[in-house]
Amino acid sequence: MKLNYSNTQTPYPFSCGLQNSQPTISTSNYSVGWPYLKCVSCGNIIQSGESSNCKNHIKYYNYLNLVYDCNNIGKFPLRKKGMLRYSSLLPLDKEYVTLGEGSTPLVCAFNIGKKLSISKFYIKDETVNPTGSFKDRENYILVNLALNNSLKELSIASCGNAAISLATYCKKAGIKCNTYIPKKASKQKKELLKSLDANITEVNANYEGAYRLVYEKKSRQEHIIEIIKDEGNKTIAFEIEEQLGVPEYIIVPIGNGSNLAAIFKGFLELKLIGKTKKLPRMIGVEIENSNCVTKAIENCQEYFIHTNKIYSKADAITGKESFSTPRAIWAIKQSNGFVVTLAEDEINKIKHLLRYECFISAEHTSWAVFAAAYKINFEKKATVIAVLTGCENKSMLKNKLGSLSK
Ligand SMILES: [Zn+2]
Repeated sequence: MKLNYSNTQTPYPFSCGLQNSQPTISTSNYSVGWPYLKCVSCGNIIQSGESSNCKNHIKYYNYLNLVYDCNNIGKFPLRKKGMLRYSSLLPLDKEYVTLGEGSTPLVCAFNIGKKLSISKFYIKDETVNPTGSFKDRENYILVNLALNNSLKELSIASCGNAAISLATYCKKAGIKCNTYIPKKASKQKKELLKSLDANITEVNANYEGAYRLVYEKKSRQEHIIEIIKDEGNKTIAFEIEEQLGVPEYIIVPIGNGSNLAAIFKGFLELKLIGKTKKLPRMIGVEIENSNCVTKAIENCQEYFIHTNKIYSKADAITGKESFSTPRAIWAIKQSNGFVVTLAEDEINKIKHLLRYECFISAEHTSWAVFAAAYKINFEKKATVIAVLTGCENKSMLKNKLGSLSK
């Protein structure tokens, strides 16, 4: 039985950050010298010397969007290679380090679409990024900003795609990478991080505990570039617009929610600079008992914390908290989007159904986008894009990244 989400409208108390008029503020107010950071909830603008998050909300959650003067960005895109092509809408105009991130294929998945009853179905294949996930886009921004601001080390609470990606970029850049990982993390992941010369601190806590611990250790400057790094992920939107135009729907798994928010922000900026008149509806995908964004929307809260113990094989979207919930809700509401919550066995069922159709080695979490698509009644003429966020076989990365360790 398919669900029709098109009438799903939940009241949401937040105001929109980007679509309001943009006050003029000198960029010199910021230690990193970029356009200004604005809260998606209360519209507060972060001033020089203030803490790195909006003072009106809980500090661990990300409420901030980086706002550009979209009337004066100059040429877009530029005739440059890689991510610098989009630098007029990125907080970066100089590149110190690149691993060849981005420029990923948009694959027409006709056979999969047919099985899902979607006539125009495409896959944005983020698994081909240098370390196998979309995280390379944001860590490219993060490490280049760190080098530009003379930071000698970066820290992260993760043992998944994000840590592997950051450790790789840090290795290439000659920056120390401190990873804080739950003790229960797999030996394979720890070994991969060690091979990239990352410092590993095992924390007697879950991911959320490790995240809070690292949060307290970071300087204001590191917090700010950490927030701004999400700008890298919006290049997924820029590439899609160039490859196909703006689709009706984009399906993105929600871990912290930052990727979904960034992709929508990318399309919104394309609209603000006059590249398109259309915006896609953003569809987030969550796992039951880990559906923090769904619960926050249902309860009209800025975020939601699950208290029960959670297990899912879709580990990249499993957790008690999603720290970018405020921005994810902002994007979902502004795009008239919605969130699909999956049961664990729905991902397994779709893998069984599509096992001969998908020639991409995607991690279990990424299959959630197909399971979500299967539950939605799309309009017949709609174009739907599913973002495959990460690759399956992390052990293959060890060989691929080996050259960096020599
Ligand atoms: Zn605020």
